Amino acid sequence: MSVNLGSSERPLRVAIIGAGPSGFYAAAALLKEGIHVTVDLFDRLIAPHGLVRYGVAPDHQNIKAVAKTYDRTAAEPGFRYFGNVDFGKDIRHEDLTKHYDAIFYTTGAQSDRKLGIPGEDLPNSMSATEFVAWYNGHPDYQDLQVDLSCDAAIVVGVGNVAMDVARVLAKSIDELEDTDIADHALKALARSNIRDIYVVARRGPAQVKFTNAEIREMGHLTIADAIVLDHELKLDHASSAEIEGDTAMQKNLDYMRAFAEIGVTGKPRRVHFRFLLSPVEIIDVDGKIVAVKMEKNELRASVGGDIKASGTGKYETIPAGLILRSVGYKGVPMPGVPFDARQGIIPNEVGRVIDLETGKIVAGEYVAGWIKRGPTGVIGTNKPDAIESVNSMFDDLRKGKLTAASDPDPDTIPALLKTRGVRYVSQEDWKKIDAVEVAEGKKRGKPRAKIVKRETMLSVIDS
Ligand code: NAP
Repeated sequence: MSVNLGSSERPLRVAIIGAGPSGFYAAAALLKEGIHVTVDLFDRLIAPHGLVRYGVAPDHQNIKAVAKTYDRTAAEPGFRYFGNVDFGKDIRHEDLTKHYDAIFYTTGAQSDRKLGIPGEDLPNSMSATEFVAWYNGHPDYQDLQVDLSCDAAIVVGVGNVAMDVARVLAKSIDELEDTDIADHALKALARSNIRDIYVVARRGPAQVKFTNAEIREMGHLTIADAIVLDHELKLDHASSAEIEGDTAMQKNLDYMRAFAEIGVTGKPRRVHFRFLLSPVEIIDVDGKIVAVKMEKNELRASVGGDIKASGTGKYETIPAGLILRSVGYKGVPMPGVPFDARQGIIPNEVGRVIDLETGKIVAGEYVAGWIKRGPTGVIGTNKPDAIESVNSMFDDLRKGKLTAASDPDPDTIPALLKTRGVRYVSQEDWKKIDAVEVAEGKKRGKPRAKIVKRETMLSVIDS
């Protein structure tokens, strides 16, 4: 008997793995189509919203406001949230293919790239990803050992994540305490001795990845000067040609030129932007980081036209006790799902998952967000990206390319999770936690006081 998927008798059943921005944008696009669709959104963590909760900097509350649109999606009929459910363990690929007509993977890029240099694994050398997760109260990183007793920190990389971590280190407690930063991080930052923060680029000022708003903010820090060395702002011919007509990059340069002109005003902390330097070794004394040896670079235009950094064999050492590498995120493989390890993404064609071995499309499986295209773009970039993948799925549905699930009964999933002893969290449960966090935050003049521990979150649901 043929099944009319998407009808009122047999709504299309879709599972989404990963409740970050792209998961919610995919859910919204699926529920908007006007056919009968039910969406079950799963996340490994109790709290939804992914990077909006655990990635976006606490002092960027305007960006976090987007969570309201995710809440509107979650309130749509046909939507269910299953938090605290680990894909591959609590729910497996074979469960999804049995109970859903289509699957979306929207797990983002949860890991990070390494520098591959000696000393990188020393205590107090960590990825910006870890540091960000720590100050944002990610339950897996609450015990991260971050020693802020040193005078100086080095942030490697010049993207927006580097700006976030440098800014958090450079801000006063007054500027941070009315944010939703985790209490443990605020306490540690209040005792911080860090006075100099070096943001180090392997290429030049015309190749920075940060955006205008982020560099502008660096000029408005209450207790820190933004410092750029005038001579490091001189552009070579290739760089000048590369950014001709690029107004955003010209603006970045204008901000940096203004910093160079203003120079040191005597604020107690300093954010130094340094260019054409690649870390080659993290130096320690008895296991304690004391400095980073940097090779000085020059720029070379490659055959393809890209401007690359090339080592000169000359070195400089910057004393520092904390090293944060902010050189890009990386996706992680999921059991039973194709993965392109080189690119750190799920291989796909316009959001349709591709089996790398056969080169063929895996019917009924889709991908959206950073795990689809790599860690680029801002939160909003994930909306058109998710819509594109959802459109691919609807196209497949219309062409009869989706196989109906053998057991589509929506009650089976909660029953299955219960049988496996999984304490899943519903949208209603999450709203309880959310209300407690917001109420506690209100008392303390913050947008929310984040609950970090899983057990505390679960006890709020039970109260
Ligand atoms: P990113 O923008 O790709 O920046 C990565 C940086 O790391 C680049 O400066 C890159 O330099 C450098 N890098 C890479 N490998 C390196 C190596 N081996 N040695 C030295 N430097 C190296 O990545 P991101 O900062 O992680 O940000 C990810 C995405 O999130 C971006 O699209 C970003 O805009 C977005 N984001 C946005 C906001 C916001 O809107 N406020 C906040 C945070 C993040 P090269 O250019 O030389 O490769």
